Amino acid sequence: MGTMDLLVWGIGQLATPLGSRARAGKEQGQVQVLKEAYVHVQGGYVAEVGRGKPSRINCPVLDVEGRAVTPGLVDPHTHAVFAGHRVQEFWARGRGEKYTGGGILTTVRATREASLQDLVGGAKARLLRMLGQGTTTMEIKSGYGLSLEEELKILRAVRALQGEVPMGLVPTLMAAHAFPPELSREAYVRTIVEDIVPAAAGEGLARFCDVFCDQGFFSVEEARAVLQAARAHGLGLKVHADELAPVGAAELAGELSAISAEHLLHVSPAGIEALARAQTVAVLLPATALVSSLPYPPARDLIGAGVPVALGTDFNPGSSPVASMPLVMSLAALKLRMSPEEVLCAATLNAAAALGLAHEIGSVEVGKKADLVVWDASSFEEIPYWIGQNLAWAVLTGGRVVGPPPSPGPDPCAS
Ligand SMILES: [Zn+2]
Repeated sequence: MGTMDLLVWGIGQLATPLGSRARAGKEQGQVQVLKEAYVHVQGGYVAEVGRGKPSRINCPVLDVEGRAVTPGLVDPHTHAVFAGHRVQEFWARGRGEKYTGGGILTTVRATREASLQDLVGGAKARLLRMLGQGTTTMEIKSGYGLSLEEELKILRAVRALQGEVPMGLVPTLMAAHAFPPELSREAYVRTIVEDIVPAAAGEGLARFCDVFCDQGFFSVEEARAVLQAARAHGLGLKVHADELAPVGAAELAGELSAISAEHLLHVSPAGIEALARAQTVAVLLPATALVSSLPYPPARDLIGAGVPVALGTDFNPGSSPVASMPLVMSLAALKLRMSPEEVLCAATLNAAAALGLAHEIGSVEVGKKADLVVWDASSFEEIPYWIGQNLAWAVLTGGRVVGPPPSPGPDPCAS
């Protein structure tokens, strides 16, 4: 552990988007790159960013010996609190069986049987692995409970985890993830609107509300009812939109000025227009497309239309057992045809904007939280390039070195 005051120096390349809001269009492809830089942290926040060496040093020093530094990665879309696994489903996918969404109920059964403590323990190990690969803030959705008590149990697990891991966690209520076997469709939508949303908001357990608006899941009308209730109770709005078919979910997200629309594999031209008008962040999840053998989302069309694009893992035990943001960045480079600058912005500042946190995190700038990743690389372009290798050499949140776990080689805390 370091301290809240720290001088990070010897930075070979400091790469960061700039600003306190999402960057769209051409702006998404512009990042600031400083050579031979330092970052001075005071009280957990960035106090100064400069070139060379500062004149006065009166705090501990972390010499990163020419490595590249970026903002901490932000994962704006996960389902990281669950019980059990679906390894059989993974191998069934390998045999070419198509994803139908039925697998969610397998995880619902296991999660309902798990105690709050079991959920926290299982998720903690997963979160620390994500931290070790550079994720410093992440969103976690509920949605494996599908009843008042069980959804609140998952959100309480997220709240307990906040005291267990040195990362920022953002809780999202996603009771509208699937339909529980014991209720009719209408009865469940009514339960969400009348019971679950008010309870989650009333206890301060969620910051956002998300709805799976897609073919075979919640219709646009059902999604609108849930989201309007969420807004009335002070929650921000997110939509799992048009992953399986173009049902008009992106249009709904734009109409309601949702903070983000996620997946978007089958977004229509009208949907893209609606997102651009509302400046709703498009959260793209290429690992899910990889695992499910689905088409990749139209990142170039979205960026070209001026929609800010973010990247996330969609980490969950079914359609994306992928916890690595660097792997998602590799997929964005190769499958979404995004530039290195667009990818970096999507995994940091725009992802922070998708969580309403772009004023606090997502870039290395004076006044922002000192969440940084030191990469065992000489430039940020290498992060997606060395596919499947963990290049995170040191991960800092609030100016403290919190990961990765010690490995052979120089100890980043030594100086
Ligand atoms: Zn999801």
